Amino acid sequence: MDLIPSFSVDHTRIVPGIFESRVDTLGEELVTTFDVRLKKPNAEPAIDPAAMHTMEHIVATYLRNHPKWKDKLIYWGPMGCLTGFYIIVKGRPAARDMYPIILDSFRYVSEFEGEVPGATAENCGKYLMHDLPMAKWEAKRYVEYLTRAKEENIFEYPKTERLTLEDGQAFFDS
Ligand SMILES: [Zn+2]
Repeated sequence: MDLIPSFSVDHTRIVPGIFESRVDTLGEELVTTFDVRLKKPNAEPAIDPAAMHTMEHIVATYLRNHPKWKDKLIYWGPMGCLTGFYIIVKGRPAARDMYPIILDSFRYVSEFEGEVPGATAENCGKYLMHDLPMAKWEAKRYVEYLTRAKEENIFEYPKTERLTLEDGQAFFDS
C-alpha cells in the first residue's frame, strides 16, 4: 500500500503552523485539507487528550456559527497523534488565507468562559473527558506562536534542512 500524503511529509521537520495537507476533487469542486499544527512532532509533548477534546468542541462551535466560514467548513477534527487538527474546507484557499480564521478560532478558545459547548452525555461520546483550563492554555500558546513566528515558516511544510523552528524555537525554549 502507498503511504498516504499526510504521512509522507517528513515529520521530523514539521514545525507548528498552518499547512496545505492535500487537495481533492469532488465532482467539479475542490476540497482542501489543512494541517493545523500546534506542536513540533516528537520534539515536545503532544496535547493532553482532554484539552484536545475541549479545543475540538469550542473551535467546532465557533466555525459552525461563523458567518463567513460556516458554509465553507466540511470537517474539523483532531489528529490521532494529538499534535494538531485537520480542517477541511470547500475550494482551495491558500494556507495564509486560513490564518485569520485559525487565529480567531484559537483566540476564542483562549478567552472562553463558561460551559464547554456540547459537553453533555447527549451531545458527546465522552463528555467527562474535557479540560477547559488546559485547552485555554494550549490555545493561547498557539496564538502567541502564530503571531510571533516568521511567515515563511508557518505556511509551508519545511523542505530543506535550513527551515527549522527558528524564532518559534526560542519561544518554546522560553
Ligand atoms: Zn466530544
